[in-house]
Amino acid sequence: KGERLRLPPWLKTEIPIGKNYNQLKNTLRDLNLHTVCEEARCPNIGECWGGGEYATATATIMLMGDTCTRGCRFCSVKTARQPPPLDPDEPYNTAKAIAAWGLDYVVLTSVDRDDIPDGGAAHFSKTVSNLKERNPQIMVECLTPDFRGDLAAVETIALSGLDVYAHNVETVRELQRYVRDPRANIDQSLSVLKHAKKVRPSLLTKTSIMLGLGETDEQILNTLTELREAGVDCLTLGQYMQPTKRHLKVEEYIPPEKFAHWEEVGNQMGFVYTASGPLVRSSYKAGIPS
Ligand code: SF4
Ligand code: SF4
Repeated sequence: KGERLRLPPWLKTEIPIGKNYNQLKNTLRDLNLHTVCEEARCPNIGECWGGGEYATATATIMLMGDTCTRGCRFCSVKTARQPPPLDPDEPYNTAKAIAAWGLDYVVLTSVDRDDIPDGGAAHFSKTVSNLKERNPQIMVECLTPDFRGDLAAVETIALSGLDVYAHNVETVRELQRYVRDPRANIDQSLSVLKHAKKVRPSLLTKTSIMLGLGETDEQILNTLTELREAGVDCLTLGQYMQPTKRHLKVEEYIPPEKFAHWEEVGNQMGFVYTASGPLVRSSYKAGIPS
Protein backbone atom coordinates (compact mmCIF):
# COMPACT_ATOMS: atom_id res chain seq x y z
CA LYS A 1 0.00 0.00 0.00
CA GLY A 2 1.16 3.50 -0.76
CA GLU A 3 3.62 2.19 -3.34
CA ARG A 4 3.26 3.34 -6.89
CA LEU A 5 2.58 0.54 -9.33
CA ARG A 6 5.27 -0.24 -11.89
CA LEU A 7 4.56 0.64 -15.48
CA PRO A 8 3.67 -2.56 -17.34
CA PRO A 9 5.45 -3.38 -20.63
CA TRP A 10 2.46 -2.59 -22.85
CA LEU A 11 2.66 1.07 -21.82
CA LYS A 12 6.35 1.43 -22.64
CA THR A 13 5.78 2.01 -26.32
CA GLU A 14 7.80 3.56 -29.08
CA ILE A 15 5.99 6.54 -30.51
CA PRO A 16 5.37 5.96 -34.21
CA ILE A 17 5.91 9.05 -36.33
CA GLY A 18 3.66 9.38 -39.37
CA LYS A 19 4.58 11.25 -42.50
CA ASN A 20 2.69 14.48 -41.83
CA TYR A 21 3.91 14.82 -38.27
CA ASN A 22 6.87 17.14 -38.88
CA GLN A 23 4.95 19.31 -41.27
CA LEU A 24 2.11 19.77 -38.77
CA LYS A 25 4.54 20.46 -35.98
CA ASN A 26 6.30 23.17 -37.97
CA THR A 27 3.02 24.80 -38.96
CA LEU A 28 1.80 24.71 -35.38
CA ARG A 29 4.74 26.77 -34.16
CA ASP A 30 3.59 29.74 -36.25
CA LEU A 31 -0.08 29.45 -35.39
CA ASN A 32 -0.14 30.05 -31.65
CA LEU A 33 -2.55 27.16 -31.02
CA HIS A 34 -2.54 25.16 -27.81
CA THR A 35 -2.94 21.48 -28.43
CA VAL A 36 -3.77 18.97 -25.75
CA CYS A 37 -1.67 16.56 -27.79
CA GLU A 38 1.51 18.49 -26.96
CA GLU A 39 0.60 19.82 -23.54
CA ALA A 40 -0.48 16.45 -22.18
CA ARG A 41 2.47 14.82 -23.99
CA CYS A 42 0.01 12.37 -25.44
CA PRO A 43 1.72 9.15 -26.56
CA ASN A 44 -0.43 8.97 -29.69
CA ILE A 45 0.81 12.22 -31.17
CA GLY A 46 2.89 10.66 -33.94
CA GLU A 47 -0.01 8.56 -35.08
CA CYS A 48 -2.71 11.23 -34.75
CA TRP A 49 -0.76 14.02 -36.35
CA GLY A 50 0.88 11.82 -38.91
CA GLY A 51 -2.33 10.15 -39.84
CA GLY A 52 -0.74 6.72 -39.36
CA GLU A 53 -1.98 3.94 -41.59
CA TYR A 54 -5.31 5.67 -42.00
CA ALA A 55 -3.81 8.96 -43.27
CA THR A 56 -6.34 10.97 -41.28
CA ALA A 57 -4.60 13.73 -39.37
CA THR A 58 -6.25 14.67 -36.08
CA ALA A 59 -5.38 17.08 -33.31
CA THR A 60 -7.04 18.35 -30.16
CA ILE A 61 -7.11 22.12 -29.63
CA MET A 62 -7.84 23.83 -26.29
CA LEU A 63 -10.09 26.87 -26.24
CA MET A 64 -10.81 29.47 -23.56
CA GLY A 65 -7.36 29.53 -21.99
CA ASP A 66 -5.26 27.17 -19.93
CA THR A 67 -6.91 27.71 -16.54
CA CYS A 68 -9.99 25.82 -15.38
CA THR A 69 -12.51 26.84 -12.71
CA ARG A 70 -12.69 23.20 -11.58
CA GLY A 71 -10.17 20.82 -10.12
CA CYS A 72 -10.73 17.19 -11.05
CA ARG A 73 -8.40 14.84 -9.21
CA PHE A 74 -7.07 13.15 -12.35
CA CYS A 75 -6.38 16.30 -14.35
CA SER A 76 -3.24 18.43 -14.45
CA VAL A 77 -4.79 21.59 -15.91
CA LYS A 78 -4.28 24.72 -13.72
CA THR A 79 -7.20 25.85 -11.54
CA ALA A 80 -8.45 29.31 -10.52
CA ARG A 81 -11.74 30.73 -9.34
CA GLN A 82 -11.51 33.58 -11.82
CA PRO A 83 -9.35 32.75 -14.85
CA PRO A 84 -8.42 35.57 -17.26
CA PRO A 85 -11.30 36.78 -19.47
CA LEU A 86 -11.93 35.13 -22.83
CA ASP A 87 -10.06 36.47 -25.83
CA PRO A 88 -12.85 37.77 -28.09
CA ASP A 89 -10.68 37.19 -31.16
CA GLU A 90 -10.06 33.54 -30.35
CA PRO A 91 -12.97 32.07 -32.36
CA TYR A 92 -11.83 33.87 -35.51
CA ASN A 93 -8.10 33.39 -35.09
CA THR A 94 -8.34 29.75 -34.07
CA ALA A 95 -10.64 28.90 -36.95
CA LYS A 96 -8.26 30.61 -39.37
CA ALA A 97 -5.25 28.78 -37.96
CA ILE A 98 -6.91 25.35 -37.96
CA ALA A 99 -8.18 25.83 -41.51
CA ALA A 100 -4.61 26.62 -42.60
CA TRP A 101 -3.22 23.59 -40.80
CA GLY A 102 -4.46 20.93 -43.17
CA LEU A 103 -6.16 18.61 -40.67
CA ASP A 104 -8.92 16.23 -41.71
CA TYR A 105 -10.49 16.06 -38.28
CA VAL A 106 -10.19 18.38 -35.33
CA VAL A 107 -11.28 18.04 -31.73
CA LEU A 108 -12.06 21.33 -30.04
CA THR A 109 -12.10 21.17 -26.29
CA SER A 110 -11.93 23.62 -23.43
CA VAL A 111 -11.45 24.09 -19.76
CA ASP A 112 -14.61 24.55 -17.66
CA ARG A 113 -15.51 28.21 -17.25
CA ASP A 114 -18.05 28.29 -14.45
CA ASP A 115 -17.21 32.01 -14.06
CA ILE A 116 -18.93 32.88 -17.37
CA PRO A 117 -22.75 32.92 -17.53
CA ASP A 118 -23.06 30.57 -20.53
CA GLY A 119 -19.91 28.64 -19.63
CA GLY A 120 -18.34 29.86 -22.88
CA ALA A 121 -20.87 28.05 -25.10
CA ALA A 122 -21.33 30.99 -27.51
CA HIS A 123 -17.56 31.43 -27.79
CA PHE A 124 -17.09 27.70 -28.45
CA SER A 125 -19.89 27.68 -31.00
CA LYS A 126 -18.52 30.72 -32.85
CA THR A 127 -15.21 28.92 -33.28
CA VAL A 128 -16.97 25.96 -34.90
CA SER A 129 -19.08 28.06 -37.26
CA ASN A 130 -16.07 30.17 -38.31
CA LEU A 131 -14.09 27.04 -39.00
CA LYS A 132 -16.84 25.30 -40.96
CA GLU A 133 -17.32 28.45 -43.04
CA ARG A 134 -13.67 28.41 -44.05
CA ASN A 135 -13.34 24.69 -44.42
CA PRO A 136 -16.64 22.81 -44.83
CA GLN A 137 -14.82 19.48 -45.34
CA ILE A 138 -13.13 19.35 -41.97
CA MET A 139 -14.86 17.10 -39.45
CA VAL A 140 -15.32 18.84 -36.12
CA GLU A 141 -15.73 17.15 -32.78
CA CYS A 142 -16.45 19.30 -29.71
CA LEU A 143 -15.46 17.86 -26.36
CA THR A 144 -17.38 20.13 -24.05
CA PRO A 145 -17.79 20.88 -20.35
CA ASP A 146 -21.10 19.96 -18.69
CA PHE A 147 -22.11 23.64 -18.54
CA ARG A 148 -23.46 22.88 -15.04
CA GLY A 149 -26.33 21.12 -16.78
CA ASP A 150 -27.39 24.30 -18.63
CA LEU A 151 -29.22 22.77 -21.59
CA ALA A 152 -29.44 26.07 -23.48
CA ALA A 153 -25.64 26.07 -23.58
CA VAL A 154 -25.65 22.47 -24.84
CA GLU A 155 -28.10 23.51 -27.55
CA THR A 156 -25.84 26.38 -28.63
CA ILE A 157 -23.05 23.88 -29.28
CA ALA A 158 -25.31 21.23 -30.81
CA LEU A 159 -26.48 23.76 -33.41
CA SER A 160 -23.05 25.21 -34.18
CA GLY A 161 -22.37 23.00 -37.20
CA LEU A 162 -20.23 20.37 -35.48
CA ASP A 163 -20.24 16.68 -36.46
CA VAL A 164 -19.58 14.94 -33.15
CA TYR A 165 -20.74 16.07 -29.71
CA ALA A 166 -18.46 14.63 -27.03
CA HIS A 167 -18.66 14.97 -23.30
CA ASN A 168 -16.78 12.67 -20.97
CA VAL A 169 -18.33 10.93 -17.99
CA GLU A 170 -14.70 10.04 -17.08
CA THR A 171 -15.44 7.13 -14.73
CA VAL A 172 -18.17 4.78 -13.48
CA ARG A 173 -21.12 6.13 -11.49
CA GLU A 174 -19.74 4.93 -8.14
CA LEU A 175 -16.42 6.79 -8.47
CA GLN A 176 -17.68 10.15 -9.72
CA ARG A 177 -17.29 11.96 -6.39
CA TYR A 178 -13.83 10.55 -5.86
CA VAL A 179 -12.50 11.32 -9.34
CA ARG A 180 -14.26 14.42 -10.67
CA ASP A 181 -14.72 17.92 -9.30
CA PRO A 182 -17.73 17.95 -6.91
CA ARG A 183 -19.64 20.18 -9.33
CA ALA A 184 -19.67 17.35 -11.88
CA ASN A 185 -21.78 14.20 -11.66
CA ILE A 186 -22.92 11.47 -13.98
CA ASP A 187 -26.59 12.43 -14.15
CA GLN A 188 -25.68 15.95 -15.23
CA SER A 189 -23.28 14.53 -17.82
CA LEU A 190 -25.88 12.07 -19.14
CA SER A 191 -28.38 14.90 -19.48
CA VAL A 192 -25.87 16.87 -21.59
CA LEU A 193 -25.34 13.92 -23.95
CA LYS A 194 -29.06 13.17 -24.14
CA HIS A 195 -29.95 16.75 -24.89
CA ALA A 196 -27.37 17.13 -27.67
CA LYS A 197 -28.91 14.10 -29.38
CA LYS A 198 -32.42 15.39 -28.88
CA VAL A 199 -31.61 18.79 -30.40
CA ARG A 200 -29.95 17.23 -33.45
CA PRO A 201 -30.57 13.49 -33.79
CA SER A 202 -28.10 13.26 -36.69
CA LEU A 203 -25.20 14.25 -34.41
CA LEU A 204 -22.94 11.52 -33.17
CA THR A 205 -22.57 11.67 -29.39
CA LYS A 206 -19.51 10.35 -27.70
CA THR A 207 -18.05 9.79 -24.25
CA SER A 208 -14.94 8.46 -22.61
CA ILE A 209 -14.14 6.46 -19.50
CA MET A 210 -10.77 5.99 -17.81
CA LEU A 211 -10.06 2.56 -16.36
CA GLY A 212 -7.64 1.67 -13.58
CA LEU A 213 -9.15 3.87 -10.85
CA GLY A 214 -10.47 0.94 -8.84
CA GLU A 215 -13.79 0.38 -10.64
CA THR A 216 -15.29 -3.11 -10.80
CA ASP A 217 -16.43 -4.93 -13.96
CA GLU A 218 -20.02 -4.74 -12.82
CA GLN A 219 -19.76 -0.98 -12.33
CA ILE A 220 -18.32 -0.61 -15.83
CA LEU A 221 -21.09 -2.71 -17.34
CA ASN A 222 -23.79 -0.72 -15.53
CA THR A 223 -22.31 2.57 -16.66
CA LEU A 224 -22.12 1.40 -20.27
CA THR A 225 -25.79 0.39 -20.03
CA GLU A 226 -26.70 3.85 -18.78
CA LEU A 227 -24.75 5.42 -21.64
CA ARG A 228 -26.58 3.35 -24.23
CA GLU A 229 -29.87 4.29 -22.61
CA ALA A 230 -28.89 7.95 -23.02
CA GLY A 231 -28.39 7.30 -26.75
CA VAL A 232 -24.60 7.71 -26.68
CA ASP A 233 -23.15 6.52 -30.02
CA CYS A 234 -19.40 6.36 -29.52
CA LEU A 235 -17.38 5.12 -26.59
CA THR A 236 -13.70 5.18 -25.75
CA LEU A 237 -12.01 3.41 -22.86
CA GLY A 238 -8.38 4.01 -21.92
CA GLN A 239 -5.95 3.51 -19.06
CA TYR A 240 -5.85 6.28 -16.43
CA MET A 241 -2.29 7.59 -16.02
CA GLN A 242 -1.35 9.65 -12.98
CA PRO A 243 -0.10 13.03 -14.29
CA THR A 244 1.81 14.07 -11.12
CA LYS A 245 2.35 12.76 -7.59
CA ARG A 246 -0.41 15.07 -6.33
CA HIS A 247 -3.04 13.38 -8.47
CA LEU A 248 -5.05 10.21 -7.96
CA LYS A 249 -2.95 7.07 -7.95
CA VAL A 250 -3.38 4.37 -10.54
CA GLU A 251 -5.09 1.47 -8.75
CA GLU A 252 -4.55 -1.01 -11.53
CA TYR A 253 -2.94 -1.28 -14.96
CA ILE A 254 -5.61 -3.01 -16.98
CA PRO A 255 -4.10 -5.53 -19.44
CA PRO A 256 -4.73 -5.11 -23.19
CA GLU A 257 -6.87 -8.30 -23.27
CA LYS A 258 -9.27 -6.76 -20.80
CA PHE A 259 -9.55 -3.64 -22.92
CA ALA A 260 -10.27 -5.87 -25.93
CA HIS A 261 -13.03 -7.51 -23.90
CA TRP A 262 -14.67 -4.13 -23.26
CA GLU A 263 -14.43 -3.25 -26.92
CA GLU A 264 -16.35 -6.42 -27.74
CA VAL A 265 -18.91 -5.67 -25.05
CA GLY A 266 -19.33 -2.13 -26.43
CA ASN A 267 -19.89 -3.48 -29.93
CA GLN A 268 -22.41 -6.02 -28.68
CA MET A 269 -24.29 -3.35 -26.76
CA GLY A 270 -24.83 -1.41 -29.96
CA PHE A 271 -22.44 1.52 -29.73
CA VAL A 272 -21.74 2.75 -33.28
CA TYR A 273 -18.05 2.86 -32.43
CA THR A 274 -16.08 1.56 -29.45
CA ALA A 275 -12.35 2.13 -29.08
CA SER A 276 -10.77 0.49 -26.07
CA GLY A 277 -7.09 0.08 -25.28
CA PRO A 278 -4.44 1.12 -22.78
CA LEU A 279 -3.35 4.12 -24.87
CA VAL A 280 -6.76 5.09 -26.20
CA ARG A 281 -7.60 8.72 -25.40
CA SER A 282 -10.97 10.31 -25.95
CA SER A 283 -9.78 11.86 -29.22
CA TYR A 284 -7.68 8.92 -30.39
CA LYS A 285 -8.33 8.05 -34.04
CA ALA A 286 -11.31 10.29 -33.70
CA GLY A 287 -11.56 10.62 -37.44
CA ILE A 288 -11.97 6.97 -38.19
CA PRO A 289 -15.52 6.00 -39.06
CA SER A 290 -16.61 2.64 -37.74
FE1 SF4 B 1 -3.99 14.56 -29.61
FE2 SF4 B 1 -6.06 13.08 -28.77
FE3 SF4 B 1 -4.39 12.13 -30.62
FE4 SF4 B 1 -3.57 12.37 -28.11
S1 SF4 B 1 -5.16 11.01 -28.84
S2 SF4 B 1 -2.42 13.00 -29.94
S3 SF4 B 1 -4.64 14.27 -27.47
S4 SF4 B 1 -5.74 13.92 -30.85
FE1 SF4 C 1 -9.49 19.19 -16.04
FE2 SF4 C 1 -11.81 19.35 -17.36
FE3 SF4 C 1 -11.79 18.79 -14.73
FE4 SF4 C 1 -11.14 21.23 -15.64
S1 SF4 C 1 -13.16 20.21 -15.77
S2 SF4 C 1 -10.07 20.07 -14.07
S3 SF4 C 1 -10.06 20.75 -17.54
S4 SF4 C 1 -10.97 17.51 -16.40
